[in-house]
Amino acid sequence: MNITAKTKICMIIGDPVEHSLSPQMHNAGYEKLHIDDQYVYVACHVEVKNIEDFIKGIRVTNIRGVSCTIPHKIAVIPYLDHIDEVAKKIGAVNTIVNENGKLFGYNTDWLGVLDPIEKHINLQNKTVALIGAGGAARAAAYAVTSKGSKLIIYNRTIEKAKEIAKEFEGEAYSLEKIGNIESADIIINTTPIGLKQQTETPVPQKYISGKQLVFDAVYGIEETRLIKDAKEKGAKTISGIEMLFHQGFAQFKLFTGYDAPVDAMIKNVL
Ligand code: NAP
Repeated sequence: MNITAKTKICMIIGDPVEHSLSPQMHNAGYEKLHIDDQYVYVACHVEVKNIEDFIKGIRVTNIRGVSCTIPHKIAVIPYLDHIDEVAKKIGAVNTIVNENGKLFGYNTDWLGVLDPIEKHINLQNKTVALIGAGGAARAAAYAVTSKGSKLIIYNRTIEKAKEIAKEFEGEAYSLEKIGNIESADIIINTTPIGLKQQTETPVPQKYISGKQLVFDAVYGIEETRLIKDAKEKGAKTISGIEMLFHQGFAQFKLFTGYDAPVDAMIKNVL
């Protein structure tokens, strides 16, 4: 760490945020490129009721970039100056860049979903079961439908699932219908189930098959129950860590202008 009075601050905001590995990932990148005197990355616990005040604060400080996690990705939108086209289509912002007091909103989460899936499978004509209907779900919906997959959304609040289904031409169901997930090619969890209570899972193991690809956006020190259950069934799996990396590499470029030193960032987090 080589912080001076000229160092710009980047940060992740969320509630909760203490589990985040983004500080390790970004700071490892700054160090590798020897720009750790120019940038430092921290985490900041911000409650949603305080989001407007927080955003006003960004404009008048040397905060260069903000990564937004649960529950801020949609809440921040009204307070920004410009939203890029993809973020508009997704309807969620996970990246804010401060250009001399003007705030630009982007979304890199969809790349965090798309890039790891495409390493395993071609998304054309696949059926994707998406659990959750928040910001991460919108990014996943955009990623998979833009590559020709059919979308089926399951969510606790059915109205929110219906909204996304309408925008991305999919079907919507409540979580009670989760048994239907058996017929999907790909399962993507974007709820925080399994984040705090590691014994919890959004999909009972009996509905997972060895033919499926199971993607859990949640990540922690240990594998989530969903990923463990899927591996036991012989399914291919993608953990939230991979999503973190891929959305983070794109964010690194937006904050600093440099290509992310991918290997150093992965090594530090793992
Ligand atoms: P969000 O906008 O707040 O949406 C959360 C969604 O989860 C909502 O649809 C909500 O349902 C549902 N949900 C919350 N608690 C639930 C519960 N106890 N039971 C059932 N459903 C529940 O959050 P987000 O930004 O999309 O993030 C969601 C998760 O993805 C978080 O755990 C976050 O850490 C993770 N994530 C990971 C990455 C990564 O890089 N790995 C990136 C983005 C997000 P309702 O609509 O009924 O409220």
